[in-house]
Amino acid sequence: MSTGARAAAPAIEVRDSPLHGFGVFATRRIKKGTRVVEYLGERISHVEADRRYDDKDENDNHTFLFIVDARTVIDAGVEGNEARFVNHGCEPNCESVIENRRVFIEAIRDIVAGEELTYDYQIQREPDDPPDIDVIFACRCGAPSCRGTMLWPPPVPRPGRPAVRARRR
Ligand SMILES: [Zn+2]
Repeated sequence: MSTGARAAAPAIEVRDSPLHGFGVFATRRIKKGTRVVEYLGERISHVEADRRYDDKDENDNHTFLFIVDARTVIDAGVEGNEARFVNHGCEPNCESVIENRRVFIEAIRDIVAGEELTYDYQIQREPDDPPDIDVIFACRCGAPSCRGTMLWPPPVPRPGRPAVRARRR
């Protein structure tokens, strides 16, 4: 390999992943804090996202959808880029950062060449989730702290509004 500057060389490539389907891998060292790739796709409303995907097999998880905020969902199934292939990991080396309603995947630690990029999907739970939602979004990332699911843990009761009050003595 030449030691000359090759800033234009892509830092990532898409190929088969041992985790799930395709994955995104570093082709060279990526330093902590690097903005690796933007999560691109068609920007649609939540209503439109539901219209597009609610009819699908309920075992088909919507992992090409990225919720930006209450108004906008990015559908990377349309006009998406490599970012949609970044797999979930419970001890990830990247995180998703939302800035000016755009989404970026950033390295949260140094990543070596050949390593697969992951970030925590933190999928929010919904009241109408089916009982087997954790199976549909099962995680097999293999990390020691693997939650076994891509879903975010159930919300903790807010201070002052406990879901279950302590019993009086
Ligand atoms: Zn995991």
